Amino acid sequence: MKAHDALYIDGAWRPADGADVIEVVDPADEQVIGRVPAGNALDVDTAVRAARAALPGWAATPPAERAARLAALRDALTAGADEIAATVTAELGSPPQFSRAVHVGMPIAVADSYAGLAATHAFEERVGNSTVLHEPVGVVGAITPWNYPLHQIVAKVAPALAAGCTVVLKPAEDTPLTAQLFAGAVHQAGVPAGVFNLVTGLGPVAGQALAEHPGVDLLSFTGSTAVGRRIGAVAGAAVKKVALELGGKSANVILPGADLARAVNVGVANVMANSGQTCSAWTRMLVHRDRYEEAVELAAAAAVKYAERIGPVVSAAQRDRVRGYIEKGVTEGARLVAGGPEAPREQGYFVSPTVFADVTPEMTVAQEEIFGPVLSILRYDDEDDALRIANGTVYGLAGAVWAADEAEAVAFARRMDTGQVDINGGRFNPLAPFGGYKQSGVGRELGAHGLAEYLQTKSLQF
Ligand code: NAP
Ligand code: MG
Repeated sequence: MKAHDALYIDGAWRPADGADVIEVVDPADEQVIGRVPAGNALDVDTAVRAARAALPGWAATPPAERAARLAALRDALTAGADEIAATVTAELGSPPQFSRAVHVGMPIAVADSYAGLAATHAFEERVGNSTVLHEPVGVVGAITPWNYPLHQIVAKVAPALAAGCTVVLKPAEDTPLTAQLFAGAVHQAGVPAGVFNLVTGLGPVAGQALAEHPGVDLLSFTGSTAVGRRIGAVAGAAVKKVALELGGKSANVILPGADLARAVNVGVANVMANSGQTCSAWTRMLVHRDRYEEAVELAAAAAVKYAERIGPVVSAAQRDRVRGYIEKGVTEGARLVAGGPEAPREQGYFVSPTVFADVTPEMTVAQEEIFGPVLSILRYDDEDDALRIANGTVYGLAGAVWAADEAEAVAFARRMDTGQVDINGGRFNPLAPFGGYKQSGVGRELGAHGLAEYLQTKSLQF
């Protein structure tokens, strides 16, 4: 894998201030595949200054020109798709086909959507005797996780650039090589120097320095609730705008009249994809008591099929965390019907696709985000019971409802405290707002709602 021994700041690859490096590990074979600089507070300061200096010019660039740069970025990502996919596979561990179709395909679609939105968005509107200007918020500090390394970056950087903001990105330490390829694509796209800057580094060092930097106007963070809380506190103290995309514990609600086999199979696939490292994954399956055993058998059979094709989880720490949760499920009395805590292979950070039956709503495996290939199946008595269980966590990021007809599923979805619901297997929509109710976050990403996060309004009265 290609690794730059530099940071991308002010339009060029520059050496970091210190000598610290991050070793990037392939989770499938535990080998070091590259080293990147671990930037420090001085590097972050240099990057923020570059972003601040570039802000007036970029903010004044006509939206049509910003759209042209985003279209060029989309094209550069498309041209580099094979290399990016191979890099995601190497540093995250996801199977090659999934890397190409989802890890690269989805961000290309998102970049394309913002090329379109930059060109067509109404950055000015008339309200009575006022003209309302939608202006860029300023310098964005973006902090991203490793689970969808390119998507998480594009979901922040593309709308920020469309809005006329400039950006300093601190990507996850586990997946910095994909971030470096993204910086290369930004460069190829002809985005002016300083508009986008990359500082690889550790969360508590580079991430914290970025969050606390007075030259940052907006913090956009995706990751754990624990770190999100801190970022929110820092932003609050400095009266900065903040967007937080945190964890989830989404419910897959299978109503009595649903096509059970389809709902279960799609539900298991949703959880096992990306080795369960998807914040919106439907990790709780809710089934009516009359069809419960049938669903458990179908889910166990479906999970077993993933044993051969599932990738590892991202790191040894993540593997240990997930295994700890599986052990906890057993201890708390859930019934293991597929997988388990034992390592399925000698080498690599693999976890067996795991399914728990007889899970009750208060169990740890029904409440906490596991972020691994672990599905919990819960039993409900009637629709009100299902709704209580579905809404009975601190999270509210996503979910699914399956029913005999769409209207019945929609009626249930309206009562769910969650930001996104797939109806009878509805497809992912890159223009639909994505984000959390409750402790799943603050703000929305994707589409016009995602763009609005990076804009602030000024009203002129006539
Ligand atoms: P994390 O620690 O919250 O990391 C997210 C990002 O924040 C990374 O870039 C991280 O840097 C950075 N960071 C860490 N500590 C920081 C600090 N004090 N100040 C500023 N930035 C900081 O999440 P993680 O370690 O990647 O994963 C832990 C758990 O978070 C997962 O098991 C999962 O439950 C959840 N998670 C959720 C999502 C989601 O999309 N909602 C995505 C990933 C993870 P480092 O990479 O150097 O730590
Ligand atoms: Mg971390």
